[in-house]
Amino acid sequence: MTKKILTLTLAVATFLSCTRKTEQKKLQSHVISHVMTKQQQEALKPEQVLNEFIEGNKRFNTGNSIPRDLSIQARKSAPGQYPKAVVLSCLDSRVPVEDVFDQGLGDIFVGRVAGNFVNEDLLGSMEFACKVAGAKLIVVMGHQHCGAVKGAIDDVKLGNITAMLAKIKPAVEMSKDFPGEKNSKNNEFVKHVSENNVKYAIQQIREKSPILKEMEDKGEIKIVGAFYRLTDGTLEFVK
Ligand SMILES: [Zn+2]
Repeated sequence: MTKKILTLTLAVATFLSCTRKTEQKKLQSHVISHVMTKQQQEALKPEQVLNEFIEGNKRFNTGNSIPRDLSIQARKSAPGQYPKAVVLSCLDSRVPVEDVFDQGLGDIFVGRVAGNFVNEDLLGSMEFACKVAGAKLIVVMGHQHCGAVKGAIDDVKLGNITAMLAKIKPAVEMSKDFPGEKNSKNNEFVKHVSENNVKYAIQQIREKSPILKEMEDKGEIKIVGAFYRLTDGTLEFVK
């Protein structure tokens, strides 16, 4: 009897161990360790990259991001990069750009500056990303509770921050017809200014970069604006 119980226990233990190994293998097979190739990048259409980003954000904000082996991706991407897109984002530590779109190493160029505005250097960076390195999509991404936007609304003056905030002032000016309280304590107003700031950046890209404008007109790239919500990790596209 005791021998029978022992045999049964062993059989159950072996079964459980096998199941665990199968589960582990299944999990490992879902870990992304490959990186974008030149051929894959060339085959991508701007609309397709945008859809990938929308799906990626859904995975991110529902806790279903795809596991990645960044260590392997780092080694594989070292010889060359073929990113899908360039994202202009704020400096904010709560906006992890690659994670927000559930993308991995070598997938996105990221330009960051407090208040995600455009200047000559960022325009040059975006021209490099699209014209030289083949990215198909530009996303200008503002976000909820942006300190830089609040600073511009409050007309903060401090060291080099003064000159930086001046770049966001046009968005405050664009928002002067906002119905309601126009101060940094009103979250709706801050959001409104952030969205206008994204629109203004896109307008500046089209006006000040004939290279990117031409690529957009030819359908080689797409330029979109987005607003990222800190509170739930979701994105709204700015029309
Ligand atoms: Zn910000």
